[in-house]
Amino acid sequence: MGEPRDTLQAMARGFLMRCPRCGRGPLFHGFLKSVDKCEACGEVFHHHRADDLPPYLTIFIVGHLVVALFMGVEQVSDLPLWAHLAIWIPVTIALSLVLLRPLKGATIGLQWAMRMHGFGGRSEESDA
Ligand SMILES: [Zn+2]
Repeated sequence: MGEPRDTLQAMARGFLMRCPRCGRGPLFHGFLKSVDKCEACGEVFHHHRADDLPPYLTIFIVGHLVVALFMGVEQVSDLPLWAHLAIWIPVTIALSLVLLRPLKGATIGLQWAMRMHGFGGRSEESDA
C-alpha cells in the first residue's frame, strides 16, 4: 500500500499551492491549471479529479461569510440598498477569486493523500 500519507499536511501544502507530496514544487502553472507533474519530486498530477468540489467549497464558504457579514452590517447601520450592493458584490467576487485556487490545491492534496484517482499507483480501471 506504500508509505503513510499525512492528509492534513497534504491539504495544507495544496492550499498553499505547493505539491502535496514534497511541498516544494508549484502545483499550478495557470490560474486554475495544475501542473502535469511536480518539478521538484516528479509526482504526477495530470490524473487528479478535483472537478466541482473547489467551486462548491468556494460558494459554501463565501456565501456563509458574505451573508453573515451583510447581516452584521445591516444590524449596526442603515445603509441603503445600493451601498450594500456596492460593498458585497465586489467582496463576493474578490473572496471567490482568492479562495478558488487554494481550495483546488487542497482538494488535489486530499486526493493525493487518500490515494484517489491514480494517486495510489493503480489505474482507475483496476479499481472497478
Ligand atoms: Zn513534489
